[in-house]
Amino acid sequence: MKAAAFSYVKPRSLAETFDLLERHGEGARLLAGGQSLIAALNMRLDTPRMLIDLNGLRELSGIRVDRDTIAIGALTRHRVLELSDDVSRHLPLIHAAMPFVAHAAIRNRGTFGGSIAFADPAAELPACCIALDARFVIRSRAGDRRVAAREFFRGLYETDLRSGEVLAGGEFARSGDPYRYSFQELARRHGDYAIVGVATRARIAAGVLSDVRIAFCGMGPTPMLATAAAAALDGRACSRDVIAHAQASLARDLAPFDDLYQTAATRMHLARVLLGRALAQLTADHEC
Ligand SMILES: Cc1cc2nc3c(=O)[nH]c(=O)nc-3n(C[C@H](O)[C@H](O)[C@H](O)COP(=O)(O)OP(=O)(O)OC[C@H]3O[C@@H](n4cnc5c(N)ncnc54)[C@H](O)[C@@H]3O)c2cc1C
Repeated sequence: MKAAAFSYVKPRSLAETFDLLERHGEGARLLAGGQSLIAALNMRLDTPRMLIDLNGLRELSGIRVDRDTIAIGALTRHRVLELSDDVSRHLPLIHAAMPFVAHAAIRNRGTFGGSIAFADPAAELPACCIALDARFVIRSRAGDRRVAAREFFRGLYETDLRSGEVLAGGEFARSGDPYRYSFQELARRHGDYAIVGVATRARIAAGVLSDVRIAFCGMGPTPMLATAAAAALDGRACSRDVIAHAQASLARDLAPFDDLYQTAATRMHLARVLLGRALAQLTADHEC
């Protein structure tokens, strides 16, 4: 199948992009890496009249490390994130997750912002952003607004982005305190979308877990923050009973669904297994 006819324009500035968005309204789509959008057009799941290609906007690309913040521009390719020393040093959770994001050819074109704006509930980066308590920078003619990752994902493929807005990137706090991180995923083949994935961050001192954040992909209509499971771990020394309690608590956090391949019950079982693996990795040098 081929896409329905559309017009194409590649603006040279964000100001021009905002003009185009205003002029074409609901009939326009922003094009980043095209790895999800072009497939949707070819299957005629979407039939925009105008594609606005963001790839000429250099200001939306790159990784910047400041004193307090690490910023990732929306147009930064997955492959750049995967190979970045800054990401490996300052955002080890994202570094660990990147090899699970699609296949190498798709990572060469796909972008950070495309993955966040597309909001596939099985995608890895949205879950990592929630686990890391990131903020998204949303730009429009009116200026910038910042939205916590946790508030940004509203429903299945639905986000807080409004008409006339462009996602400019994500911001992550640089933490002086050492955290430990784990990314775990099960997929049918490596590089496919996750059946279930979990992004986890915690501090551990003298075997006691604190500031635990756990976010799942593939376990509901959006990436899901597992607050009950985190509460079951926070302030406790890691033990088999504590881990089992956190795994049981996932029933309160997650809203899995049946699909052609898995039942909700299977997904919940896999989520518990993955949380166990994540905690084993986080606490690898502590007795549990
Ligand atoms: C076979 C296959 C397997 C894949 N497997 C995975 C996987 O395992 N995990 C995973 O996470 N992803 C996977 N993907 C998706 C891939 O990661 C895409 O790169 C990503 O979903 C979209 O990024 P993109 O840059 O290609 O966005 P595009 O396809 O260009 O755009 C996607 C959507 O986001 C909007 N958009 C893009 N940029 C912006 C912006 N800056 N501001 C506002 N809106 C914007 C577009 O208008 C469009 O609606 C897979 C894709 C394919 C084809």
